[in-house]
Amino acid sequence: MSKKTKHLPKVAYFCMEYGLHSDFKIYAGGLGILAGDYLKGAKDYDYPIVGLGIMWKQGYGDQMIDENGQPFDAYRNRKYEFLKDTGVTVDVQIRSVNVKCKVWLVDAFGNAPLYLLDTDLPENADAWISGQLYGWFGEERIAQEMVLGIGGVRALRALGINVDLYHFNEGHALFAGFELLRERMEYKGDSFKKATKKLRQQIVFTTHTPVAQGNETHPIDRIMYMGANLCLKRKHLSELGSLEDKDHFNMTVGALRMSKKSNAVAQLHGKTANIMWADVKKSSKIAAITNGIHVPTWVDGKVLLAAYDLKATALDQLWDAHFNNKKALVDFIEERNGVKLDVNKLIIGFSRRAVPYKRSDLIFRNPEIIEPLLKNQTIQLVFSGKSHPLDDAGKAIVATLVEMSKKYPKSVVFLTDYDMRIGAVLTRGADVWLNNPVRPKEASGTSGMKASMNGVLNLSILDGWWPEACDHGVNGWQFGDAKEYKNPAKQDLHDMNGLHSVLTKDVVPTFYKKKTKWREMMRNSVVSTHKQFSVRRMLGEYYEILYK
Ligand SMILES: *Cc1c(COP(=O)(O)O)cnc(C)c1O
Repeated sequence: MSKKTKHLPKVAYFCMEYGLHSDFKIYAGGLGILAGDYLKGAKDYDYPIVGLGIMWKQGYGDQMIDENGQPFDAYRNRKYEFLKDTGVTVDVQIRSVNVKCKVWLVDAFGNAPLYLLDTDLPENADAWISGQLYGWFGEERIAQEMVLGIGGVRALRALGINVDLYHFNEGHALFAGFELLRERMEYKGDSFKKATKKLRQQIVFTTHTPVAQGNETHPIDRIMYMGANLCLKRKHLSELGSLEDKDHFNMTVGALRMSKKSNAVAQLHGKTANIMWADVKKSSKIAAITNGIHVPTWVDGKVLLAAYDLKATALDQLWDAHFNNKKALVDFIEERNGVKLDVNKLIIGFSRRAVPYKRSDLIFRNPEIIEPLLKNQTIQLVFSGKSHPLDDAGKAIVATLVEMSKKYPKSVVFLTDYDMRIGAVLTRGADVWLNNPVRPKEASGTSGMKASMNGVLNLSILDGWWPEACDHGVNGWQFGDAKEYKNPAKQDLHDMNGLHSVLTKDVVPTFYKKKTKWREMMRNSVVSTHKQFSVRRMLGEYYEILYK
């Protein structure tokens, strides 16, 4: 152990998903990408951190589009060569049935050790608990979370890994807290009150979604029936996880009450989360620690070099580096979709989970303005994004984007099955990165950080991380002026008009007519974000604020 790590608390980080490599399909989206980048940063900067997660047999669904332009999800079993067998298994009792969980080690991606629990064993009656990531709700979701939380703590014990802090990334991991309470109550004889008070000193929590429905809630009866409560009684569960409704347990509320400190994932999200959870009595304080990305994973080194170069020719080099990435994107699209975009014309990228508040189709909503720009290829739009497997509204959004790509085949592209590879190719190769969520529902938005560091200019609502970085007209653009309306139709109209105005008055003319200004903006974009929004800064703040 190095000198530096000797005095730092050792942390076990729990997360349902990890995005370490595009083809290692144990991630769905932003939460997993953050967790993967975090583990890579922990390794790079020598922090004493281990990760715990689930070895998903099928992972998240592969998005496919049928002949009618409707998306559906396909699942397949996967095998990975790089999994290391720890020789350890742990038991978790789920619905009174013993479930064996095998523990794998993953360390093949320049990451701090990641231990994954796997229920796919012949001796398990239900081997499918670790089958599909977010595939199910209700009892099955609880079973998965029991494996992660309860199994995860038991795995640490069986592996002989001692830690000082347990970090729950999202409420999914909360049952780890129940297992830790059980240990204190059963082995040390602590009362519930004493156990919770002491345990709180060892738990920290990161909250993610500022959308109420995104925060998982379960009937307490269901938690008890599953056996997730361990030694805890009904009244203990409501004391920890209920608001007014004493029969339901909210995973976020529970995690806020079980932790000594918690954090939101951007400064604005910190404000939103504190308002959102103001009614939670005995909650930990929610600090704001803005997410960061693992720069070597996402950013082209040539772009970085050119952006920091002081020679007169550096702006041209910066453009050349970007142009190579843009060509790679155009080739990638041709290979995937058979559509050849014009590499000399403006490409706007937009990849987001398909949910209504992200308003993927906002840009299309005034055809009078947007249609001429699409028809003559002044702008070319590249979309990608999956919906939750059980979300019909999300699927309808994808279908709309596919329809638009059929309507404007030369200038609108939809790339199916958004994954880390598409994320990387797009956030390097587009000229502009568009983001138009309903403010303030975007917690952070790390794809915009990837784009900005690659010299891809953000064109975004002032939500998530962007208010911290945006210097309008200097390193990217904002639209909407952070105005919030109660009426959703008014909000959409205001934001769409803002988008169309900045697009036609600033983005398009600058791209086509002011090449030097564009390149200066690219440089400003890289230089103003590259350190501030890196996982290195984020990890430093975790240790300064959350783990202290
Ligand atoms: C970076 C990334 C995300 C997170 O991006 P957001 O800005 O939060 O939408 C999600 N999915 C993939 C595949 C990514 O690469």
